[in-house]
Amino acid sequence: MGLLHRLTKGLKKSRDSMGGAIDAAMEGSEELTEEVYESLEEALIMGDTGMQTAEEIIGQLRERAKKQKIKSASGVKEAMCAVVADLLSGGEEVDMITMPAIILVIGVNGVGKTTSIGKLAALYKAEGKKVILGAADTFRAAAIEQLEIWAERAGVEIVKHKEGADPAAVVFDTIQAGKARGADLIICDTAGRLHNKKNLMEELGKIYRIVDRELPYSDREVLLALDATTGQNAVNQAKEFKQIAEVTGIILTKLDGTAKGGVVLNIKNELQIPVKFIGVGEQIDDLQPFNAREFADALFGG
Ligand code: GDP
Ligand code: MG
Repeated sequence: MGLLHRLTKGLKKSRDSMGGAIDAAMEGSEELTEEVYESLEEALIMGDTGMQTAEEIIGQLRERAKKQKIKSASGVKEAMCAVVADLLSGGEEVDMITMPAIILVIGVNGVGKTTSIGKLAALYKAEGKKVILGAADTFRAAAIEQLEIWAERAGVEIVKHKEGADPAAVVFDTIQAGKARGADLIICDTAGRLHNKKNLMEELGKIYRIVDRELPYSDREVLLALDATTGQNAVNQAKEFKQIAEVTGIILTKLDGTAKGGVVLNIKNELQIPVKFIGVGEQIDDLQPFNAREFADALFGG
């Protein structure tokens, strides 16, 4: 299955709901009336786009519709896709050029960090990169075991310590192993106990200092994993994490499990953090680099 096909399949629920809403709003109407705009805005808000972002989108849609004299449902869809693609693009590039480069994945429990790391490892390995994983979520033994399973699946190496070990020490050892073995890319898992904010902040701070010291000139991404099915909660988590860590991008997981894929728009527009990867299923190749145009098309059926 190709990337695009997986994306289209993964966003089916959202498309049925959001693209379907455009069809419904336009049914039997020859003009883009106020009522049509209102139902489109409502559909965006229902899809977790967020009030302010939805208003902005509708505003831009109005301008476009006026200029291009749009009257049909397909015309509205096309215009909507263009507006949304515009809003979503910018900053999604991931440059992992230095040898090694490093990705830290952060986020609360259950959002899909470990799973996404397994998928990322497979993705970069397929590009010919030598990848090494660091099991720096040392809070539970199960977390370490889970990453080991993913490492095996992806066919990459892993560095781990025992449960309860210092996460920064795991990151340190992973970096040393990565350097010694000529790895192209180091990806580290972390624990995400946001309810113990001070602790988490200290833990992440220590990890950053290790990376700064050991890999000062390396390309670095700090990717915050968010669960798309949690809607506004995901947005709130991003706000919290933005305060305690320098987040360079977002991995938005479980888009296949929600009809509210509009949350991507909310995140990009409200938080000004680019979505860099999206998870559209549980299989190893169900993580993809984010492409604004393709995403917009898959979301509205453009
Ligand atoms: P962590 O606690 O943040 O490391 O989260 P995990 O990686 O353990 O994932 C939690 C659950 O979410 C697991 O059951 C994963 O299979 C599931 N999951 C992760 N990403 C996706 C996704 O893109 N789609 C679906 N449907 N499930 C996902
Ligand atoms: Mg985990």
